[in-house]
Amino acid sequence: MASTVGFIGLGNMGGPMAVNLVKAGHTVLGFDLSEAAVAAFVGAGGKKAASVAELAAAADVVVTMLPAGKHVRQIYQGEGGILDNAKAGTLLIDSSTIDVDSARAVSAAAADMEMIMVDAPVSGGVAGAAGGTLTFMVGGTDEAYEAARPYLDIMGKTIVHAGGAGNGQAAKICNNMILGISMIGVSEAFVLAEKLGLEAQKLFDISSTASGQCWSLTSYCPVPGPLPASPANRDYQPGFAAAMMLKDLKLAQEAAGTSGAATPLGAEAAALYTLFCNSGGNDLDFSGIVKFLRGSQT
Ligand code: NAD
Repeated sequence: MASTVGFIGLGNMGGPMAVNLVKAGHTVLGFDLSEAAVAAFVGAGGKKAASVAELAAAADVVVTMLPAGKHVRQIYQGEGGILDNAKAGTLLIDSSTIDVDSARAVSAAAADMEMIMVDAPVSGGVAGAAGGTLTFMVGGTDEAYEAARPYLDIMGKTIVHAGGAGNGQAAKICNNMILGISMIGVSEAFVLAEKLGLEAQKLFDISSTASGQCWSLTSYCPVPGPLPASPANRDYQPGFAAAMMLKDLKLAQEAAGTSGAATPLGAEAAALYTLFCNSGGNDLDFSGIVKFLRGSQT
């Protein structure tokens, strides 16, 4: 059934996600602070909303794809925001990657207004957003998950219910903490192998079928050669930018701090990605950390 969907945050990810909802036959109202983002969305069949309030009042479903927790809290709970203006029963889907505490606080405020909310951060990048092949990690009640599912199915391919409110964000940062740590581990092994005169291809052949195997090695190898499709073969053009990895590692550290979890390697990974980003790695693929560990930017 066609719905009126409001979409706030029409950037690199939100723009193509919103267009996929248009293509599926929904009426989609879009709002963004960037005029260029709104113009691209309107050019692809979307309708421009004059304000968040207008969009929220008209929509059956609101999707948000914003940079960080402060933007999400502002857009939902600020003056003239979604919660002040949407009808009771409106379905709210926040796909931004934000801190777990903000996700849970906004979800509780939405429930107080009798709205149904999921946090549904994604992995899959801009290509996944454009192709409708994103993975969504969803936090919310069973009812909210079932209500969101038809819309998530349009924008994504793999949809996982991770538990109650905030658990989508929890799943995303836990996964990316594993990824950041494992990419550093694999990179250190290749740097050591170079120093010891062990060819990268040999280490790959051995470790990819031995106990050192992991996704960072066998699907995303950080040195050129073994996997022709990995960003290492195109001078570390992303891919998944180091700045985005750092954002997720910082969110994981924030959550570790508030929950009391000990994550010493997560802390070290955040520190190393900070150094890599500060030394020019920001816009490189996160696997480019191998260059930083080698002590050269070449
Ligand atoms: P982006 O900066 O391209 O888009 C964010 C958009 O939000 C911008 O167009 C900006 O103008 C708009 N915006 C900011 N504040 C606003 C406000 N108050 N009102 C209306 N619009 C506002 O970022 P992106 O790459 O699309 O990422 C969005 C989210 O998705 C982030 O949380 C990011 O961490 C997450 N994410 C991104 C990727 C990726 O590969 N780019 C992958 C997974 C998850």
